[in-house]
Amino acid sequence: MTVTVRFAPSPTGRIHIGNARTALFNWLFAQKSKGRFIQRFDDTDIVRSKQEYADSILYDLHWLGIFPDAIDYQSKRFEFYDAAVEKLKAAGVLYACYETPEELDLRRKVRRTRGLPPVYGREALTLTADQIAEYQSDGRKPHWRFLLPNFISDPLQPERTDIRWNDLVRGEETVDLASLSDPVLVREDGTYLYTLPSVVDDIDMGITHVIRGDDHVTNTGVQLALFKALGAELPTFGHHNLLTTTTGEGLSKRTGALSIESLREAGIEPMAIASLAVLIGTSESVQALPVMAGLADHFDPAATSKSAAKFDPDELFVLNRTLLHRMPFAEARDRLSVLGISDTRAEPFWNAVRGNLDKLGDAAVWWRIVNDGVQEKPEFSNEDRDFLHQAFDLLPQEPWDGAVWKTWTTAIRDATGRKGKALFAPLRLALTGLASGPELADLLPLLGREGTSARRP
Ligand code: GLU
Repeated sequence: MTVTVRFAPSPTGRIHIGNARTALFNWLFAQKSKGRFIQRFDDTDIVRSKQEYADSILYDLHWLGIFPDAIDYQSKRFEFYDAAVEKLKAAGVLYACYETPEELDLRRKVRRTRGLPPVYGREALTLTADQIAEYQSDGRKPHWRFLLPNFISDPLQPERTDIRWNDLVRGEETVDLASLSDPVLVREDGTYLYTLPSVVDDIDMGITHVIRGDDHVTNTGVQLALFKALGAELPTFGHHNLLTTTTGEGLSKRTGALSIESLREAGIEPMAIASLAVLIGTSESVQALPVMAGLADHFDPAATSKSAAKFDPDELFVLNRTLLHRMPFAEARDRLSVLGISDTRAEPFWNAVRGNLDKLGDAAVWWRIVNDGVQEKPEFSNEDRDFLHQAFDLLPQEPWDGAVWKTWTTAIRDATGRKGKALFAPLRLALTGLASGPELADLLPLLGREGTSARRP
């Protein structure tokens, strides 16, 4: 069977680096098994879900290097969920409940004081026909709960029922179905909670592996029971640890913190995000991998640890610099061209400046320095100014070759007796207006004799 995975966010905000971790785990898993990746939008909440968020999620995924084989929306599939509801009702495992949230709350409190687990006590199963008729005449609408298979013959006598699976990430996992309330699948107003549509889709879409965050481990216990109740084969499950910041804070789509969009705008390269999102919280060391295929070689779901994957967002900048410093011109070419860096000097320029970039966009700053001169006229002591005048008088005639810097600075040293920092620092300042930057030997040929002379203080 073709390996088929899905990434299933609800389109209620922009995705963040933690969501990217889930998407990438699925993508890399599919890539490694030559399988399919389905992009599924869990948009049954039609009030909070927005098409613009779905579009932005697809944009972010493409930008990260994830290209879904198919795209689907739960909002277009209600008929299938309705059919599943009928099937569950017919099997007697979906039952109507009439409690209000306040009543449920009160019941939970009572159970707690009695030392019982605060789960739903299935009181709705004991309602008489008269009581139901009364609720209905009061205008109460039922919500519908799935009867968990955690009893032998009497649902009012649940027994410990371990449901087990071999998790791709966590190994042997167990959830005791008696420790859970029967989940509500359909609300009073007929809308669906996440639990049932997800299973129906996983069945219909032939999902072979459900890879998602470990906040879903308990759901898996319930969903495995649902797969069985619907007569379907069980997929393999894998639950990866969640990303948190170093202070242990979780990420949220709602706050927009560490969204892929904001990281892109900050100039972080997609592969810096992907490398961190995949390798953090695993036994692999975090390193900047320039291409997805390389990252796939380092990806192993079983190497993921069980505890939260804490990360420092500053690590992204470190990875970013590494990627840029090694990025071949061919890869940067089109983006440099968008910045207006496109003539025959583009390649030597890139090779000269890439080692100094925090983000690719900074290349534009150096391009301006190369073409338009220093941004702010530097101040020099009289002594340095005299030195620089002497130095500029020694500027070699054209044509220039790659050795022009060496030729020039040797002449300066011989004439002035200056060497080391005393020689290079004022030259750098005069030529670039900055105290540090790319190798002057690489920059000088880009400035040309005319451009260099124009910087004589
Ligand atoms: N919409 C769910 C979420 O974002 C999907 C979980 C799942 O992958 O099953 O948490």
